[in-house]
Amino acid sequence: MASKLNMANLPTKIEKAERLSKEWGVNLYIKRDDQTGSEISGNKIRKLEYLLKEALDGGFDTIITTGGIQSNHCRATAAAATMLGLKSVLLLRINEPPRVEGNYFLDKLFGAEVRYCTPDEYKESRDIIMAGIAEELAKKGRKCYIIPEGASNGLGSMGYYGAMEEICNQEKEKGIKFDTIVVAVGSGGTYSGLCIANKALNLNKRVIGFAVCDDSEYFTNRIDKINQEAGRLAGKEWNMSTADIEINDKYVGIGYALSRPEELKFIAEISSKEALVLDPVYTGKAMYGLYNEIKAGNVAAGSNVLFIHTGGLFGLFPKQGQFDFI
Ligand SMILES: *Cc1c(COP(=O)(O)O)cnc(C)c1O
Repeated sequence: MASKLNMANLPTKIEKAERLSKEWGVNLYIKRDDQTGSEISGNKIRKLEYLLKEALDGGFDTIITTGGIQSNHCRATAAAATMLGLKSVLLLRINEPPRVEGNYFLDKLFGAEVRYCTPDEYKESRDIIMAGIAEELAKKGRKCYIIPEGASNGLGSMGYYGAMEEICNQEKEKGIKFDTIVVAVGSGGTYSGLCIANKALNLNKRVIGFAVCDDSEYFTNRIDKINQEAGRLAGKEWNMSTADIEINDKYVGIGYALSRPEELKFIAEISSKEALVLDPVYTGKAMYGLYNEIKAGNVAAGSNVLFIHTGGLFGLFPKQGQFDFI
């Protein structure tokens, strides 16, 4: 398997949410991937450990990547690049002139060079724009390594293959088996790694991905592509298909990075019960989805459920004004 850097604080803890478990009628555990670091916190660093290894080995001096203005991925990439002595360029999607806050503020602190694009440009041509930036910088003698949105490609997904192996080791230590693994899905690489490991290691777990944008057909196809790419890279025949992918798109709400009042109330409720802070863009929606699916009887009562807290705390602060009910 591909080699990687060791930047994240691993293994991340698994903790039981005692009060929510009692209320919801399942054994709810949280894997604290929000604690993979502070500057590099969240799920992206597990994927970046593989991609940045390739960048260092290839003698690249600049990392280019892309995401929304409050992208956790871009912030983690900028921090990790700086830690490694590399430069970073971030192509950020904006609707209007952005306020310097949250992740975007940190991007600036880490010394990232920031470029902007419109939502349409992002959707249609972000990879072409990044290639153009790489070409422009090459003329100045720079060597650019381009990381796709969310670091979600075949190599990046190995980060969550590794996370699933970590979970298996923790199951043995704790003497527990998780029946269901739950994670938010934004660009698919995290889900891809978990579902490949589930299949390749014969774990027979249910892995539910809650979409935070787009729909389940979109993500099923996208994740299937990442799975195939990872298979080619690893030279393995995983015999995976779209049937191995379970994406629930019922809790996207009003769209990416947009919050409904009930989602924000839910985040406040979980914080007050467990001192577990979820973010409005990813983990808040995924946990809200899990709660509703348990209530609807779609997750077995009494089963062991592991929710992967993928981070996103810095994205909560720009939304503070919407919590006027607390
Ligand atoms: C990016 C992100 C996700 C989604 O992971 P993908 O691999 O992009 O699907 C989930 N939670 C947080 C906090 C994220 O930043």
